[in-house]
Amino acid sequence: MVSKPTAVTYRIFSSGYCTAHDWIVDPKNGRGKARFYATWLLLEHPREGLYLFDTGYSARFLEAARHFPDTFYGWATPTFIKEEETAVYQLAQLGIRPSDLSGMIISHFHADHAAGMLDFPEIPIICHPAALEQVLSVNGVGAVRHGIVKALIPRDLKERVRRVDDNHPEGFGRVDAGESFSLQFMDLFGDGSVELVHLPGHARGQLGLRIHTADHTLFFATDAAWRKSTLEAGTLPNPVVRLFFDDWKAYKTTFAALQAYSKTFPAHRLIFTHCPQTMDFID
Ligand SMILES: [Zn+2]
Repeated sequence: MVSKPTAVTYRIFSSGYCTAHDWIVDPKNGRGKARFYATWLLLEHPREGLYLFDTGYSARFLEAARHFPDTFYGWATPTFIKEEETAVYQLAQLGIRPSDLSGMIISHFHADHAAGMLDFPEIPIICHPAALEQVLSVNGVGAVRHGIVKALIPRDLKERVRRVDDNHPEGFGRVDAGESFSLQFMDLFGDGSVELVHLPGHARGQLGLRIHTADHTLFFATDAAWRKSTLEAGTLPNPVVRLFFDDWKAYKTTFAALQAYSKTFPAHRLIFTHCPQTMDFID
């Protein structure tokens, strides 16, 4: 039996940004440089407590990017982050210590999502099994090629990960809406309030998050698109991104599924990590 969703709440934050050429994001209209804000989310569930969803950048990224081979990452994406913008600092301002968190969900291990992980030691980590397998197996230049900076990944990651498929033997269930799209959702807390969504393509085992609050549904679809406007226009990023995307074909399938989702559920708040519109939801 499915119990009634509880009153879960969330708040969106941003920690730093990087810049890249706008024609990469929007090959049709892009000019000049675009800012990729690193947004993340704090989730509060009445029974399960506080969860972080991604971490944004930390100053540690700038330090790591001084050393080979992570220097390449710094060159490719010039990054701007101040100490007082970091997740750990912003949470401290709200009186929240890292040990107050029940856990952190990492959508994927690209540095702009995972760079703050070391500021939150000991708490459980939730990620997709395929993302975990990849981050544990890559090193050096091979890691950078996948957007991963190993110096930012906790050494005890494997011990702290609560594998979502272990806790939930049923794994990710398909949600189909007629013929138009198919996405895989997983009920995180067993009460229908928070779901992990598998969004393959951009990065191995990338996750999004869907939250049903008392008054609306939020679908945080991370890097499955970079802008709501390009998703709505059906404009894919420049194919040069295939150099570091995990699977271009899967990316296109996920992108099309989200276009259909957006049309099927226009009232849902569909947002993306780096979309300028997401910044409008920050207090
Ligand atoms: Zn990414």
